Amino acid sequence: MSSLYVYGYILFTSAIIFVIYLISKQLLATRRHIEEENLEDFWNGRLRNRSEDEYRRVVNHLGVCDECQARLDDITQNNKARHNVDEGIITRRF
Ligand SMILES: [Zn+2]
Repeated sequence: MSSLYVYGYILFTSAIIFVIYLISKQLLATRRHIEEENLEDFWNGRLRNRSEDEYRRVVNHLGVCDECQARLDDITQNNKARHNVDEGIITRRF
């Protein structure tokens, strides 16, 4: 009877430690800045196809990080600029 109680207690404690581990892992992942490659793939929509988990992390991180939001803005501006240059060439050719 008492060993069953101890067993239940250990199981309960392990479950709590595991949940704390999962939450802190999630928190740390959210705090880590987004890699340049992932940010580019997020911008062009490829990240979601590649990894749903990574996509969710990027969305979560962008919600809390001004720095990465600014980097995403830069990527958007750069790609727009590149797009305009391409369009310029096409317009001149035809
Ligand atoms: Zn960041």
